[in-house]
Amino acid sequence: MAYRSLKFARVVFDADSTLSRIEGIDELARLRGVDVSGLTERAMRGEIPLESVFGARLMRVRPDAAMLAKVGALYVRGAVRGARSLLSDLSHAGVEPWIVSGGLRPALLPLARAMGIPGHRLIAVDVELDGRGKFVGFDESSPLTRADGKLEILRGLRPRGGKLAFVGDGATDLAAKPAVDLFIAFTGVAARPAVIAGAHRVASTYSELRPLLLGSNRSVHKTQ
Ligand SMILES: [Mg+2]
Repeated sequence: MAYRSLKFARVVFDADSTLSRIEGIDELARLRGVDVSGLTERAMRGEIPLESVFGARLMRVRPDAAMLAKVGALYVRGAVRGARSLLSDLSHAGVEPWIVSGGLRPALLPLARAMGIPGHRLIAVDVELDGRGKFVGFDESSPLTRADGKLEILRGLRPRGGKLAFVGDGATDLAAKPAVDLFIAFTGVAARPAVIAGAHRVASTYSELRPLLLGSNRSVHKTQ
């Protein structure tokens, strides 16, 4: 058997700056002609709580259907090297990959598809559009609009009798560490000192993630 010792039943990935090189909200803002990247970075560093910027950012950006589709394509184009291959190998090894993101679900669905993750394993913030694709609002009840939202979601994703790992780059990812057996800071896109300091392990590439998530008793696959 190729994979003798499965370490995890589920592995959850953050999306922005983890599976893809972009921060979707910043790209949406650029399309709208506004700049919210300073707010995003401060929230991801943990300097200001996410809930204090989430709604404010979205109400400035007001993403419509066309903008969400464009950023959906950017997420796919920006996929981090080796991510698709590792997620595919996790699935084949019987490990469920999930995406939990504070990003917008319609923009993230193409990335989930490209990564081979079914829609029900993508948990993100939904937006409401009108019949002409104009922005109406977002799901303000989503825990993912808050700094401790991933902690709550990950607690709910704990597999019965199985282990849970989480890979992310931001402060809201680190905040979910108490809910998981292994939290890995991914630094391949953005290296944030507070997240690195708090993580169980650190990885800067998907090649480095591979043995941490799949264990060492596995058949050799070429990933480069
Ligand atoms: Mg991120």
